[in-house]
Amino acid sequence: MDLSILQSSPLLLALAVGVLGLVVGSFLNVVIHRLPLMMQAEWRADCAELEGREPPVEPRLNLLTPRSRCPACGHRIRWYENIPLFSWLALRGRCSACGTAIGLRYPLVEVGTGLLFAAIAWRLGPQPVALLWCGAAAVLVALTLIDWDTTVLPDSRSPAARIHRCTTDLPASRTSRRQPTRG
Ligand SMILES: [Zn+2]
Repeated sequence: MDLSILQSSPLLLALAVGVLGLVVGSFLNVVIHRLPLMMQAEWRADCAELEGREPPVEPRLNLLTPRSRCPACGHRIRWYENIPLFSWLALRGRCSACGTAIGLRYPLVEVGTGLLFAAIAWRLGPQPVALLWCGAAAVLVALTLIDWDTTVLPDSRSPAARIHRCTTDLPASRTSRRQPTRG
């Protein structure tokens, strides 16, 4: 495939990298939802081990398995229902099986990541460092929203906690609702 056209056209490059950002954003939605659950399962197993108990039996969960399902009816999300942004629009934000609303945050994360990636490609052009910036942006999006949901990150380093603090004007100690973190 001839990629030289992307090198000569900043707009096409930004569009292509923006589409890549949509796909990465779709994966980030999985990370944001599952990573805290995986960490909590690990903590439960660690606690059980420390207390000399059998670790609790938990359903197998990682970033790849099981396949995504509707939390309301268990309908398995098919590949064409999982196309970033477009599937949400085509389904009008509802599960195709039971009609339960699919949160607006899913497409927003996808679009936000796509825009970040496109902006980075537009600003930096076809350079390896742009990939590093895209990777950093993806990690920041995931960490910010994981912390927004769960507050598992230490407050002093959390982007979400800083935003919380700025928007609520509360002292840091008042915003701390941390769950145990592993050293
Ligand atoms: Zn459903």
